[in-house]
Parts: sequence; structure tokens; C-alpha cells
Amino acid sequence: MKLKFLGGAGTVTGSRYLLSDDKHRMLVDCGMYQGVKNLRKRNWARFPVEPSSINAVVLTHAHIDHSGYLPALVKNGFKGKVYCTKATHELCKVLLPDAGYLQEEDAKYAFRKGFSKHDKPEPLFTVKDAEEALKHFESLHYHERFEPVKGMEVTFTPAGHILGSSCVHVHHRGSDRTVVFSGDVGRQNDVIMRPPEPINKADVLVCESTYGDRLHAESDPESELAKIITKTAGRGGIVLLPSFAVGRAQMLLYLIHKIMGEGRIPKMPVYLNSPMAIRATEIFSRHHKEHKLSAGQCGMIDENTEFVRTVDESIELNAVRYPCIIISASGMASGGRVLHHLKTLLPNPRNSIVFAGFQAPGTRGDALVNGAESVKIHGEHWPVKAEVHNLDSLSAHGDYNEILQWLEAGTLKPEKVYITHGEMVASDVMRKRVRDRFGWDVEVAELFDEVDI
Ligand SMILES: [Zn+2]
Repeated sequence: MKLKFLGGAGTVTGSRYLLSDDKHRMLVDCGMYQGVKNLRKRNWARFPVEPSSINAVVLTHAHIDHSGYLPALVKNGFKGKVYCTKATHELCKVLLPDAGYLQEEDAKYAFRKGFSKHDKPEPLFTVKDAEEALKHFESLHYHERFEPVKGMEVTFTPAGHILGSSCVHVHHRGSDRTVVFSGDVGRQNDVIMRPPEPINKADVLVCESTYGDRLHAESDPESELAKIITKTAGRGGIVLLPSFAVGRAQMLLYLIHKIMGEGRIPKMPVYLNSPMAIRATEIFSRHHKEHKLSAGQCGMIDENTEFVRTVDESIELNAVRYPCIIISASGMASGGRVLHHLKTLLPNPRNSIVFAGFQAPGTRGDALVNGAESVKIHGEHWPVKAEVHNLDSLSAHGDYNEILQWLEAGTLKPEKVYITHGEMVASDVMRKRVRDRFGWDVEVAELFDEVDI
């Protein structure tokens, strides 16, 4: 069996790994590149393998940097099935059409502004393409063994990162070799997700390294959030939390309502302004057995949150001037309704902007948490006068210590480990840490490298 790194190497987005033997090809994750322009440009390059020659796709989880290229893959000739967990399927039904919508909007915008090289810029894929891709999906339970292509047996185990997220175990019958893809690995003590299940057997391990060179601050996010919200409300300001629609938005809602219920922050309206996050919250409630929150706690979130669904309601919310809390996507402020709120709230020192997750280099979120004095939104520069915070301790990714703990918890003795899904320095630091801790043979994967397994 051969493994080729078609993406997610040297960067945190665009996860795509190809497994093949003489007869079949199976892709693990089919992500879109996000962040700086040079990376986004890669989405437009010809897919390195003919899509029609791939027999099946298996997804670790629903995030767009792991699933977002699927509609383009189908559009370009992929005919096989896409396998994932039940919750990943549900979330992709929300995320993929939304990604198609954003692509269509981008193409229209480029056409209006005339900055595309093409007379009529085309989207990478459309909502219709996304809906077409969803017809290829088939979902399974965790620990259920299946055979997406003949001779490759696959199982999912919980990865604790977001709802439905999994590590993908592939056993190649012909060679009796097992490769495990970590996907994105969650926290050991997340507020709402259970810790990732330990891995006990892999000849080869492909391991992420988003926080390969960093530790999360040992702070108590509840107290920090309480402090920021109380202070901001005290000066009559608004707290804006740019958030990933899936995962972080639900966690933030839970934390905010919890501290409000305990009287640690003043009572004020809590708005969730993201149709996608609203649907993700509904899915989250339906799948409550897969995370730490009870049906009752999910109900409490529903009852106490104002869901902002329509564009008109969103515009109305942007005119609000009384203390309130707004959660809106996207999490790195790279697009979506949060941009309108940022334009209104950034220039006023009364307000606070609170990020709660990894900010990829090149994104507005990254600029803001690194102290930018102004940011460009919709072609104009906006001064940053509001307080900007980054509650990094709320990240959905384990830091390097947590990943080492997770690896140590199993009975794993891999012959080879490939480090992926990290910026170059983070991946290299992770490589050294795993090697030093376990004495394993560890290498940082390079884009388009192909290795024998
Ligand atoms: Zn992810």
C-alpha cells in the first residue's frame, strides 16, 4: 500500500491523503485550502490525481479544510462514495452548500469589481455541486468496520475535536498493514467534547500538529470570559465573538449561559447570528449522546439564545447599541456576517472582540489577535479601537502535551509516524517531541511525497 500526501503538509488546511494499491485508490479527507492567497490559489490547481480514478473518499470530520473540496472533486469526475460518521454527514449537509454559496458570492464579487483575470469568473463550485456531492455520502457509526474499497477495511474512533470527528483506521488486508490518520485531535479536558479515544494499533501513524510548538494557556476560560463580558457591559459595550459555526459556537453558547445562570455576568441578550451555526446547534442537540452536554443543557441553550436567521434581522442586530453578546461566523473573520459586526464594533473602544480558536496566518483574525491597528474589510480600512482578546484555551485542538498524552494512553508502537497539518515550525517541533518521548521514527510529511506502507 502506498500513501501520498496531497495536502495538509506544511500548512494546517487542505488535508488530503491518498492511499493506493495496484487496484484501488482511496482518499482520506478532501479539504479545501484556506488562509493566505497563495494557499487559496491551490484550490484552483488541477487535482493531482484524476478524480475519476479515485474509488472512495473517507472523511475524518466535517470542517471545510477536511471536506470542502468534495464538491469540486465530484464536479471533476469522482464517481465513488464518501464515507463518514453520522454526525459528520449531518454537518456536511450544512457546511458544503454554504461553502458553495460563498464560492458563488466570491465569483460575483470578483466580476462586479473586475479584479478577476477572467471575463466571467466562475466559482470553484456551486451550491448545486455541493448538493450533488452530498448524494455520494454514506454514514457509519463509530467502531463499525466497513470496506470502502476491496481490501481496505476502515473504522472510525472518536477524536474529540468536533461533533462526529474521528480518527480513521485503515487496515490493508493484502499486506496486513494498518495506517491510522489522527484527523484533528481534540482536547483532554474539553468543555463539551469527550477526550479522543486512545489508539492501540498502527504500523504507520499520520498525526496532526496544529499546536505542535505551543501549549494552551493554563487559564480558566470561564473566569476570563466572565471578566471580559462584565467589563465590556459595564462600559456600555458589546461583546462580539467571531466563531466557527460548528463546535466553538455551541461551546461558547454553553459557557455564556452557564456563567449567566450562575450570576457571574449581568443578564443581557445573547445572539447567535449565523444560519449555519444555528443549524449546527440543532444537530448538536440531536446528537447529545456524542458529547458531554445533556438534552436538558442543550435545551437551556436553545431557550436562552436569540437566533438571528434572516438578513434583515442581521442588519437590525447591527444597529443595536445596548450591551449584548453576539456570536457570529466565521471564526477567523475571513468572511460571513461577522464582518458587518466588525465594521460597526471595531472603531469603538467600548466594545470587545473575543476570538476562541486557532487563527490561520494571513486571516483577519490572525491580524487582529496580533495587534493590528486597522483591518481591511470589504475594500476599506477599519481602525481597531475595540479591545481584542484571544481565548486560546478554548481551542478545539489539543496542544502538543495533550497529543503526547493521547498517544501515550494507547498501546501504540508504530514503525513510522508522519507529522502533518501544521505550519512548518510547529510540525518540526512536534516531530522532535514525539521522537524524544517515544523513540519512534518520526518524519514531517512533505507535499506530494509518496511513501510505501
Ligand atoms: Zn477541524
